Amino acid sequence: TTEEKQITGWLCFAYDITERKRTQDDIAHMAQHDALTGLPTRTLLHDRLQMAMERSRRSKGVMALLMIDLDNFKRVNDLHGHSAGDELLVTVAKRLEHAVRKSDTVARMGGDEFVVLLEDLKSHAHAERVAQKLLDALSAPVRAGGEFLPMSASIGLCLYPDGGHDAETLLKNADVAMYYAKSEGRAAYRVFSTDIASATARRRNLETALESALVGNELEVVYQPQIAFGTGRVTGVEALLRWNSRSLGVVHPSEFIPIAEETGAILAIGEWVLRTACREAHALGQQLGRSLTIAVNLSPRQFQQESLPTIVSDALGASGLAPESLELEITENVLVSDSAKAMRILDRLRALKLRIAIDDFGTGYSSMSYILRFNVNRLKIDQSFIRDITSERPTSAIARAIIAMATGLQINVVAEGVESSAIGDMLRDEGCDEAQGFYYARPTALADIPEVIRNLEKSMSLSAVARRSGGSLPVVVEPIPMSA
Ligand code: C2E
Ligand code: MG
Ligand code: MG
Repeated sequence: TTEEKQITGWLCFAYDITERKRTQDDIAHMAQHDALTGLPTRTLLHDRLQMAMERSRRSKGVMALLMIDLDNFKRVNDLHGHSAGDELLVTVAKRLEHAVRKSDTVARMGGDEFVVLLEDLKSHAHAERVAQKLLDALSAPVRAGGEFLPMSASIGLCLYPDGGHDAETLLKNADVAMYYAKSEGRAAYRVFSTDIASATARRRNLETALESALVGNELEVVYQPQIAFGTGRVTGVEALLRWNSRSLGVVHPSEFIPIAEETGAILAIGEWVLRTACREAHALGQQLGRSLTIAVNLSPRQFQQESLPTIVSDALGASGLAPESLELEITENVLVSDSAKAMRILDRLRALKLRIAIDDFGTGYSSMSYILRFNVNRLKIDQSFIRDITSERPTSAIARAIIAMATGLQINVVAEGVESSAIGDMLRDEGCDEAQGFYYARPTALADIPEVIRNLEKSMSLSAVARRSGGSLPVVVEPIPMSA
């Protein structure tokens, strides 16, 4: 029984827990530090940010948060593999740590996103100098995967307390500023401000609204006539997209098309424009009793779409439009993209027997050899050179040079954005084939196009008569009835 039991001694156990303690520390360290770069992670950054805000409140020293995102990191991973990507991230981490003081924090937020927390700065300008220093440090090529890879980063800078009173807001606003730096062309830093916040909000609203533009029936195609100097006749129309958003009102193409290109919405929208333009141009041709060329703009993004030639031939087939009546406007950059895929797609489009025009010619990097290789049918001289042609500036020679070159190569040439008779006259004298611009006609709803064409051709023939009779406009004489 129990009472019979006597305590005869103690048996002692002693555990050495150093190892376990170390493991616990390791685990804590691992949770707070990134395995790849050894940098603090989001959680530790949060703690340090809390403390830094407190110190800054007491000392009144300037504190700044920088959100850093590499440009084109995905491309490195895709092209050179994940281990090269990892190597690059390690180098980036080292460069960032090297560029700031020991007391500052460099953290990795995940992926290719880093945050730098700067404390005790003397002024706001100082924070910007550090941002520039980081950009410089990240702009040198990185050795990864046995190669030197070009690199750059975009940085969003947010100051405490102007840019927010708590950690969440500061991080969010640094992100907003970074996003803005990206949308402005990358490889730069931007300081968070309320202006940037509203521009970013606008952009996000546009992105959301664009998603429903097509199914919501908010899109329309309008048409702008193109007129031949030689005959004074309208030879074709360019299809131009219009968006009247239910939530945002009328949005200009120059604002929404770049966004649609970035989000990829341009693929579905571009296909819709193509189908609509082919169908409406066919109907218009039948109504007028003559065929007009219909020019449709293609985004470079559509050239990453292997199915583009099929989409185009389907649109032609469904509309009944002759392939020779369809002209696709592409930009020079598509031609020189040196993407084998884009080249293959362009070859397959050519095989459909439609026409190819180079839009905004003169603004990109053109290569005459590509223009000849793809049998480009026409060049559209960019508006900026057309506007310059009557000026004294040296750039006034550009449009003239393009016209001479195109004529020599027997490529049709169109002037875009002609806004005055003086410019039109000069272009005609230089030997330009055709013109398009507000001076002749604005982009017009389909229903009004027949009337616009009629009026335009009438006034062209009147001014031709005027030219022949020495510049003075003739008095319009009513035709004399035959019976008289
Ligand atoms: P773009 O293809 O170069 O089109 C010519 C632009 O110049 C049109 O602007 C037109 O309205 C404008 N314009 C025409 N004549 C004059 C003029 O005399 N003076 C001035 N100042 N402007 C003139 P819009 O319609 O705003 O389109 C802007 C750009 O958006 C187009 O430039 C084109 O790159 C793009 N875009 C328009 N529709 C589409 C589309 O369906 N698909 C794609 N991918 N892009 C499109
Ligand atoms: Mg165009
Ligand atoms: Mg253009």
